[in-house]
Amino acid sequence: MNYTRSSALFAQAEKVIPGGVNSPVRAFKGVGGTPIFVKEAKGAYLYDEDGNRLIDYINSWGPMILGHAYKPVVDAVVEKAKKGTSFGMPTEIETQIAELAVSMVPNIDKIRFVNSGTEACMSAVRLARGFTKKDKIIKFAGCYHGHSDSFLIQAGSGASTFGTPNSPGVTQGTAKDTLLAVYNDIENVNQLIDANKNEIACVIIEPVAGNMGCVPPQNDFLAKLRLLCTEHNILLIFDEVMTGFRLAKGGAQELYNINADIVCFGKVIGGGLPVGAFAARNEIMNELAPLGPVYQAGTLSGNPLAMAAGLAMITELNNDAEVFNRLAEKTEYLHKGITNVLNENKVVHTINRVGSMISVHFDAAPVVDFKTAAKGNNETFKKFFHGLLNQGVYIAPSAFETWFITDALSFDDLDFTIDAVRKVSKTL
Ligand code: PMP
Repeated sequence: MNYTRSSALFAQAEKVIPGGVNSPVRAFKGVGGTPIFVKEAKGAYLYDEDGNRLIDYINSWGPMILGHAYKPVVDAVVEKAKKGTSFGMPTEIETQIAELAVSMVPNIDKIRFVNSGTEACMSAVRLARGFTKKDKIIKFAGCYHGHSDSFLIQAGSGASTFGTPNSPGVTQGTAKDTLLAVYNDIENVNQLIDANKNEIACVIIEPVAGNMGCVPPQNDFLAKLRLLCTEHNILLIFDEVMTGFRLAKGGAQELYNINADIVCFGKVIGGGLPVGAFAARNEIMNELAPLGPVYQAGTLSGNPLAMAAGLAMITELNNDAEVFNRLAEKTEYLHKGITNVLNENKVVHTINRVGSMISVHFDAAPVVDFKTAAKGNNETFKKFFHGLLNQGVYIAPSAFETWFITDALSFDDLDFTIDAVRKVSKTL
């Protein structure tokens, strides 16, 4: 494939945008080469500035569950835009999407909309601290909850890809209130709680981790976490920025039948527009300003275009009883196909999958936490990534990311992808 125009655009961007990108993981630093510049996208495909067609397994890092430029979402945004793009005043559509979200997600009474997943998680932690009147939080190594200070401690996603899981600029004072636990290790969480008696406000977790590749919770880990949190008066925060409205209507809470105290959402709930949200039962949400003392605000929060896109998107997901089964079926098909092909060619690997999230790790050992995720062979991953890209299959440019499956993918697209993996695996 030819990427001449993408390369030229990247060189131009580098002069005026740090690293040429507005979010680090786009930069291809982990895999080498220059990023692809997207011109447009439709359904399961991206079309780049050089005229290449790519099957998209990133899907805007999750939200394009029903495919790019999905007509009901586009129509809703266009119609809204004609009536004004922002007012900073209440609009009816905010209540409509809130009512729908509250009806779909278990165990929440109220939801507040923000502009990104980062804002959602940051606000959720402030709320947990305000509610419990405690300061410390527990997060898991390899989980990513956005780029606010408290979370850039052993963070996953781009932070791991670039070897900067702990960022300069985060003060020691902030860092000391974030305790780090090992994913899937309940004894480790227990010890942290014991060592910090009555000091921990919340445990925040990706209920299925997606930012160290895909790592599922194992051996009733979430249920045990729930029990521990209840026992110690700690709020359990599910960061469902990736899993919400993707793994099931009610996200991971529904899939695993576990109630979290606060749930965070991101890009999915905005149909791909810049949206986030956090939600909880009344007792907790009523602590928020203007009802309560915990301050949180946003000029563009509840923006009409974002609400219109989000409402159109989650309405579709709510009305289609089969969508989550279809997504899981397609992902399983891909999983089996890739496994067969990699085995045929004796490529050492582990594949993790939950619902429509899947990732390929190039190591034989099970991948259950950040340490085991980091053991994957990055040289093999780089070859795998570029080999697939050359054949028109676009996966995330880092082994610390998950592939997201869209319902727009046909079985022919999946077969094409498996065949591309077959060709690449001969070169690994
Ligand atoms: N939480 C999780 C689980 C995420 O995956 C992300 C982003 N990928 C975030 C929070 C932050 O969201 P945003 O990039 O919209 O700020």
